[in-house]
Amino acid sequence: MGKILRVNLTDMEVKIEGLPHEDVLRMYVGCWGLGLRMLYDRLPLGISPLDPENLLIFMTGPLTGIAHVPCSNNTTIATLNADTGFTAGRSHSHGFFGPNLKFAGFDGIVVEGAAEKPVYLWIHDGEVEIRSAEKFWGRDTHETEDLIKRDVGEEKASVAAIGPAGENCCAGALIENDKHHSFSHSGVGAVMGSKKLKAIAVYGTQKVPVYNEEKLKEVTKEWRDNLFKSDVARGLAKGGIPRDEYRYAKNMSITTAKNMLEVSPPEWGVGMSKHKITPKACFACPIACSYEVEITSGPKKGYVATPAGGGENLEGAASISGVYDSGWVFYLIDLFDRVGFESSTLGCTIALLIECYEKGLITKEDTGGIELKWGDPELVEKLVWMAARKEGWLGKLLAMGPKRAAEVIGGDAPDFAIHIKGAGMNLHDWRATWGIMLGQIVGGGSGWPAPAADAWATEPDAGFPEYQDPLDPKIKPIAVAKTWPKKYWDDCNGTCWFATWGVPGSLRFTAEAVSAVTGWDFTAEEALLVGERAVHLERAFNVRRGLTPEDDLNVPKRIVEAPPSGKAKGRAMEPYLKGMVMEVYRLMGWDEKTGKPLRSTLKRVGLEDVAKDIWG
Ligand code: SF4
Repeated sequence: MGKILRVNLTDMEVKIEGLPHEDVLRMYVGCWGLGLRMLYDRLPLGISPLDPENLLIFMTGPLTGIAHVPCSNNTTIATLNADTGFTAGRSHSHGFFGPNLKFAGFDGIVVEGAAEKPVYLWIHDGEVEIRSAEKFWGRDTHETEDLIKRDVGEEKASVAAIGPAGENCCAGALIENDKHHSFSHSGVGAVMGSKKLKAIAVYGTQKVPVYNEEKLKEVTKEWRDNLFKSDVARGLAKGGIPRDEYRYAKNMSITTAKNMLEVSPPEWGVGMSKHKITPKACFACPIACSYEVEITSGPKKGYVATPAGGGENLEGAASISGVYDSGWVFYLIDLFDRVGFESSTLGCTIALLIECYEKGLITKEDTGGIELKWGDPELVEKLVWMAARKEGWLGKLLAMGPKRAAEVIGGDAPDFAIHIKGAGMNLHDWRATWGIMLGQIVGGGSGWPAPAADAWATEPDAGFPEYQDPLDPKIKPIAVAKTWPKKYWDDCNGTCWFATWGVPGSLRFTAEAVSAVTGWDFTAEEALLVGERAVHLERAFNVRRGLTPEDDLNVPKRIVEAPPSGKAKGRAMEPYLKGMVMEVYRLMGWDEKTGKPLRSTLKRVGLEDVAKDIWG
């Protein structure tokens, strides 16, 4: 441990470097914080996400791979976001990949350059091999995982692989690992595909060193005792989303349907619990949100799907296109995972095209005779494959993602393309929870940055022990500004977010666990500062690559208009948008004219060098 692998695929060369000095490490800690800092320092300006110069940084945290710590399995990718084209890409995954990387002796991997022919990495107990992946090219992510495990002769290896979508550098391409999990956001699969890197297999047998085992046991006991006080941990436990038949999100009016033309349709979720659901926990996870599901009825009866535990993926794969049948929902999410698409990006693009077709903006002539309509699972299946292969006009359009596809179609299409800065928006329908929507709008287009105490869980450690009115334009900027640093701290320490989100005391538990593991005297205040520093550093990264307030204000109409039904019926965020965005800027210490973090803000969090970069 304490080592980072540096793999240059242009030169087919592997080097090992040490982690930064402790002074630097304490400022960024791991996962998103450390990966982002490395990206900021090493990525040249003026390159595009699919250029060989882009970096694909896999980073674990100090708690990753330590069995006492609940859900200690996070790995984060930092890269130039292939879906927005210009912002910092952030993508987390769970399962066993991160722990195995640590057990193999490494804290992170930096991939640079691009291979001439498909390759995969085999990392095992301190050894690294770059192997040919030509025979696996074209295979889906699950097949690739099985084949590579056989190829390396280690069934317990963890494999992170791209599917055809990543190979063909499609918008929204993901990297799937351990069958249930994926690095979903920021187009990371396309970046990996551009490097001709089909997969990374890792396995190790080393133990992650812990400075003070007794102290760690003490704090993690308290942490585990508090874990299920969070609504989110309780709600997700043991495959909770399908077992509950999606009642929570339906009741909150946040289930996306038909490109947001509908809200929480009554048929959605019905029958999900009737299929055979078997919870599948990640490394050291007492929650087990993920599950295997055998479809027990309908045309896909007998098919076994392996989804992750949230609901957003299900909505992107199915309800956004009007597909509500529970058997098809599970089949389709598995299809997206196997072909290698993050479901909201492609799902939003499919839904956009269906709406465009309905409105006459595209015709049967454009689609090559294919009729685009809501609620047709076989059509969705066909379109997923067409997108992955960039087949014909329609396939090429789908592979562009919602923003670019809408620009090609023209007319009013950009108004109803659901995206954040070009990247597919994390679905649910956040028009009923303005804090989560606002966080995404001012974020960099790589998933939620701020939970805002709107829904799913409160944020007691960020000052919100109770849920906040999800439609209050005055409270929401405050909730975003307060929960964002906490969330980014949770993204740095090496645990799955579900182990900390809404868990009372989690800030102290994580800080004390980091102290016990590293031997630092790390405090909750320092942890929060690490999170805040990452918020400003990401913003500075994005500003240097062209982000302006216009990017936060010129959002598609659809995501800020009033929903047609449900709890937020008739309530549009649009009239308040500018005021809310500017209030977030003020609270975060960002300049209202340029959107840059103020020099004083950067100085306060120890980023004087970054202040120089953006202010001179
Ligand atoms: S809560 Fe879900 S995603 Fe998180 S570690 Fe557990 S099974 Fe994995």
